[in-house]
Amino acid sequence: APVLANAKMGGRTLIVGSTGFIGRLISEACLDSGRSTYLLVRSGSPASTNKAQTIHSLQNKGATILIGTITDQSLMEKILEEYKIEVVISAVGGESILDQLQLVNALKSVGTVKRFLPSEFGHDIDRADPVEPGLQMYNEKKQVRRAIEEAGIPYTYICCNSIAAWPYHDNTHPADVLPPLDHFHIYGDGNVKAYFVDGTDIGRLTIKVINDKRTINKAVHFRPPNNLFSINELASLWEKKINRNLPRVTITEDDLLNAANEMRIPESIVAAFTHDIFIKGCQINFALDRPTDVEATSLYPDTPFRSLDECFDDFVPLIIDGRVMAEKSASGSATEAIKLPGSEAYA
Ligand code: NDP
Repeated sequence: APVLANAKMGGRTLIVGSTGFIGRLISEACLDSGRSTYLLVRSGSPASTNKAQTIHSLQNKGATILIGTITDQSLMEKILEEYKIEVVISAVGGESILDQLQLVNALKSVGTVKRFLPSEFGHDIDRADPVEPGLQMYNEKKQVRRAIEEAGIPYTYICCNSIAAWPYHDNTHPADVLPPLDHFHIYGDGNVKAYFVDGTDIGRLTIKVINDKRTINKAVHFRPPNNLFSINELASLWEKKINRNLPRVTITEDDLLNAANEMRIPESIVAAFTHDIFIKGCQINFALDRPTDVEATSLYPDTPFRSLDECFDDFVPLIIDGRVMAEKSASGSATEAIKLPGSEAYA
């Protein structure tokens, strides 16, 4: 029986970036799926309480913690060989995209990893064309894609579109912040649509694709039809949840371009992507017509995505007497104040 159970668990999976926003979601889904999960954690970076708590809670769920950085190619080769890693998922942040080139070298030289998912988790970077400084991040992600393809490493690119939350144009992690309680910023005419996907679905689906032969050397696009919303529709949905109408303030195309132009990192990067999504329609202005395109709801018709309606329900209990409290999902018991819209945007 134990042999069978092990076989069902799937490949030994190494996750990089598990203390980050996307990486944590993926790590939790990986552990929930029963896989042998190894997490590469950097020792040098500032050890915040949050980071330590995240590592601790993932460890309690059964993760094996390995200390190191992906820029250390020989260490990475050693880890891949010693732990017989079959799948590697990277969710390093925007400032570390090119660190992955050394990881790609390690994957190439070891040659046994069956699937690599580089840090993507957004738009199809071979199609979208945001203004600077968003473009630079996409150019770096493209450089990583080309290195993977050239090395012949089996890959999957996750294009999961937007996270199900209010898309603040100056905040990289909008799911950590409550939708507005004072007024809405509406981008342009507010009618351009985008796909909003719950964080737990991003984690769950990412883990599903890694064992799926149909996703080898493909870009997997998350396009749940029911989660396609314009920002006007998003505003109305939130108004229904809080039983109150809020004023709408227009943020014009020029406002977003000016914010991008300020070159404040990361705020200006987010402004560039907001412009691309809500003015140019970068999530919806192309058909999935390349041989490398697959779509998540077509791959897994029996696995429904959480609706945006449900996701917004999650935010409502967090409004308590004007204070905003959030239960940290992974640590279970720890309760901490989350940022109110308009407060300091970055942790
Ligand atoms: P975060 O900045 O939250 O976390 C980055 C993680 O990567 C941290 O755990 C960090 O470790 C780790 N890391 C960075 N460099 C290295 C390295 N050299 N070696 C090992 N670990 C490293 O990242 P995000 O979750 O914001 O971003 C992940 C990806 O998701 C990006 O590609 C980003 O563009 C995308 N994204 C998509 C969103 C969407 O709405 N679709 C929203 C946000 C991000 P440490 O703790 O030591 O710093």
